[in-house]
Amino acid sequence: MENSNAMAMFKNRISQWVKYSDYIILEQNGKKYISPAPGSRMSIYDPLADAEELVTDFLNWGRRFYGNEFDEPTDKIAMEIASKYGLAGWMVALPKDRKFSSYEETYLGASGKIFGKGNNMKTKEYIQCFTAHDPYEDDPKIAYIMHREDIYNIVFSSRYREPFLWSTIFAAILYAHFTSIMDNGDSRTPSSKRLSSEHMAIASNNSGLSLQMWSGDSPEMFWCFDSLKAAVETAYCAFLTANTHPLRVCKHCGKIYYHTHSRNEFCSPQCRNQWNVYRSRERTSIKRENSPE
Ligand SMILES: [Zn+2]
Repeated sequence: MENSNAMAMFKNRISQWVKYSDYIILEQNGKKYISPAPGSRMSIYDPLADAEELVTDFLNWGRRFYGNEFDEPTDKIAMEIASKYGLAGWMVALPKDRKFSSYEETYLGASGKIFGKGNNMKTKEYIQCFTAHDPYEDDPKIAYIMHREDIYNIVFSSRYREPFLWSTIFAAILYAHFTSIMDNGDSRTPSSKRLSSEHMAIASNNSGLSLQMWSGDSPEMFWCFDSLKAAVETAYCAFLTANTHPLRVCKHCGKIYYHTHSRNEFCSPQCRNQWNVYRSRERTSIKRENSPE
């Protein structure tokens, strides 16, 4: 499905991302990471080609983690996210300067706390947090053709890794934000607006999105999404702020879906049918209770 009007302004973009055919969970010094499996195949795709599916997928992963209604192991959600979309790109998403890799020190601001550091961290040490081992000769040299800085050769390599739960927690935060918006409904009180902007701080505090201008006979402007994380956040904000915001909660199963008709209340025809079946059963049982035997 091609994107609706909400994403129309991002038509010119650099958002291509890399995913591998298989991922594994590794443990090192008591920490768990998720990383491409040895020998897995790399592919390039555009997560914003189907922004509706991207956003609803992340919201529903967040919902599963938050409610943990199936009591499933969290590894499973982390694996599902990576298998479908690759890793989120936290290494490039956290630094406050896009060119961080060319400096001795990386400025992380408050994110430095995650690593038990101050606002700054030695760049070499910072990169080591996201790599299983030192450079291999066979890091893919694809950053340049994907119009990205050299550091992306590491992000897109098979030695790149991320703490295994980060993408899942990110999905859960997104879902928490979504439910707070839904709870506030149409209220336009200042307090609910403030609540929303606080929740969204995770998006606005990081650079995420930048602009590139390509000169030539007819200059062109491109939105550059620094990470998968930035792509999810931007599409989510675009949908949420669209005039008739298209993200809905299914009346039957509670799943979040992208609605195509304003009067549609269910994520699928199956859910609509089941809802109707339950409702007619309810009616029949009420009738039976009230009928004289
Ligand atoms: Zn449903």
